[in-house]
Amino acid sequence: MLYDFRSFVNPGKYAFGKGSINHLGELIDKQKNEKNNWSVFIIDNYFSGKPLMSKIPSTEDDLIIWIDTSEEPKTTFVNSYRDLILAHDSNLPATIVGIGGGTTMDYAKAVGLMVTNPGDSADFQGLDLIKNEGIYTICVPTVSGTGAEVSMTAVLSGPEKKLGIKCDYTIPNEVVFDPEILASVPTNQRFYTGMDCYIHNAESLNGTWITEMGKAFAEKSNELCKEVFLNKDMDRLVADEKMMVASIMGGNSITYAQVGVCHALSYGLAVVLKVHHGVGNCIVFNQLEKYYPNEYKEFKEMQTLHGVTIPEGITKECTETELDQMVEVSWALEHMWNNAFGPEWEKHITKDMIKDLFRKM
Ligand code: NAD
Ligand code: ZN
Repeated sequence: MLYDFRSFVNPGKYAFGKGSINHLGELIDKQKNEKNNWSVFIIDNYFSGKPLMSKIPSTEDDLIIWIDTSEEPKTTFVNSYRDLILAHDSNLPATIVGIGGGTTMDYAKAVGLMVTNPGDSADFQGLDLIKNEGIYTICVPTVSGTGAEVSMTAVLSGPEKKLGIKCDYTIPNEVVFDPEILASVPTNQRFYTGMDCYIHNAESLNGTWITEMGKAFAEKSNELCKEVFLNKDMDRLVADEKMMVASIMGGNSITYAQVGVCHALSYGLAVVLKVHHGVGNCIVFNQLEKYYPNEYKEFKEMQTLHGVTIPEGITKECTETELDQMVEVSWALEHMWNNAFGPEWEKHITKDMIKDLFRKM
């Protein structure tokens, strides 16, 4: 097992349960002082004009930044949102509130750091490159599975790489979990993001870096994912509440272990074809029977039960150069391969094998 020593951080505070969103104003007010008395709301633009906005306690002093989630977070947008915030008031905001899925929460986490760390966010992609603590960040997840709400990384696509800003300060200071907000997530998206969580567990449990700590989180998360997705008739609110917990646990399982084959390949699809993380993982997992046979079987059962379509043939039109690019992106994720197969991982997987997998997607 390769296991670098690290002391992990979790969010400082959790608020959990139906109706929690109604207390967001109190949580924000607690962070205000005479000087820093305004907030930034970074919100998935799906919610613009939707009933949820009546529960968002923004005032006229605050700044709302709407996020287009059609593309995953980019360093260039992080920089421009930071500039908007600095131009809004001569004093810094008391809080940054991120309301949305993994895309929006990662923007909130990254922007909160860039406000207090001058420079281009692309220069901070990597481990422990951030110097100063960011603005107090509150995340409100609106779809469950990525674990971004509890992770120490904000995944960004920069000019050169898709890589997280990862450090102790990237963790949200506070998270508000309200399962009622998840009611409007469409079936396919709910499955794709939910399967991100299921796959986090599969990869950590089957990996060589697994510890008792990672295992405890992954096993509970896995149990919840199966309760929800192997059951067609569960009450939606009950199911969404369970998936909020599964996402927390799955996120922690990879913090204390690591992802594997599926995530390594899925990053290749994301960088070259701009495929979103959740659906990308499903497209890849659809080809991974050999590596995760038991989980593959369950994954197919869940897909069939929920009548979800997984795109196929997305690499059909790819040139050899594009396929090679995907292989290189995946191959470079050494820590994921190392977790999946151990330190001698190159004996188990070759670039040709990876390319063949991409061809089938
Ligand atoms: P997302 O934030 O990309 O949103 C996906 C879609 O769901 C969007 O169309 C969005 O508008 C919609 N949506 C979200 N909430 C909704 C609601 N309540 N009702 C209706 N529609 C809703 O989805 P995601 O899968 O949560 O996030 C993927 C992103 O998370 C990727 O950018 C990925 O890189 C990142 N990620 C980060 C981490 C981390 O540790 N930081 C881990 C995994 C993934
Ligand atoms: Zn993931």
